[in-house]
Amino acid sequence: LGATLIRSEVQDIGVESDGSDPKAKSVILDNGSEIFADSIVLATGVRGADFPSIPGRFSPSIRGIKGQILRLEANESTVSPTYVVRGIVQARPIYVVPRPSGELVVGATVEEKSEDLSPNAGGVENLLHDAFMLVPGLREATLKEIGVGFRPGTRDNAPYIGKSGIESLYYAFGHFRHGIMQAPITGQIISSYITGKTLPEVAIISDPLRDGIV
Ligand SMILES: Cc1cc2nc3c(=O)[nH]c(=O)nc-3n(C[C@H](O)[C@H](O)[C@H](O)COP(=O)(O)OP(=O)(O)OC[C@H]3O[C@@H](n4cnc5c(N)ncnc54)[C@H](O)[C@@H]3O)c2cc1C
Repeated sequence: LGATLIRSEVQDIGVESDGSDPKAKSVILDNGSEIFADSIVLATGVRGADFPSIPGRFSPSIRGIKGQILRLEANESTVSPTYVVRGIVQARPIYVVPRPSGELVVGATVEEKSEDLSPNAGGVENLLHDAFMLVPGLREATLKEIGVGFRPGTRDNAPYIGKSGIESLYYAFGHFRHGIMQAPITGQIISSYITGKTLPEVAIISDPLRDGIV
């Protein structure tokens, strides 16, 4: 696509105001270099728009929602499902996803915690308990991995995709539980803004300026 990928930590966004409405002009990297651009898209997950030069009124709060997920490996003693199994156990949603490789993904906890990225015994216990209730044949599977991550959540749990209120700066974060699924529509909305194409109808739901939130 003609793009250059630069792997670096963005420390700040270059914003000029000259007493008028603010306008984003650059990103400032951790090595001090500044990259100028006509349009800047923040797709920063839980970090959101928390950068020193972005005024607070343009930086909606994003909270992290902890999620734990397990990877099991089937062996000769395992009776695995051949399709995705979903259920609710003791009011907790649970799913078991079999992969062609024999891996089984069991997920996922949803915890309103944004501090601690370590797995905890209670979360793993719940996942295993609930998975065994749905698929008892998993008991002998090998526990290969415990994954932990934060989902980025907004005030109303709908994402912020679109204009930030600062000229030339766009937001694409806050997708909570659906960031993978919503990646294509996010790209479509952002590219429509930047190229001036007609917006997809759903763009209104994820407008960062909705209800005066920003
Ligand atoms: C256990 C679990 C299971 C999930 N299952 C699903 C699922 O089945 N389907 C689904 O659709 N979603 C699922 N999700 C949610 C999904 O992972 C998130 O919605 C998605 O990752 C959000 O994407 P994002 O790109 O906005 O944020 P992230 O994936 O967090 O990516 C943001 C990126 O920006 C980078 N970044 C942040 N600040 C800076 C900076 N200053 N400089 C440079 N880089 C920076 C970060 O390092 C990171 O790489 C799940 C989440 C969890 C935790």
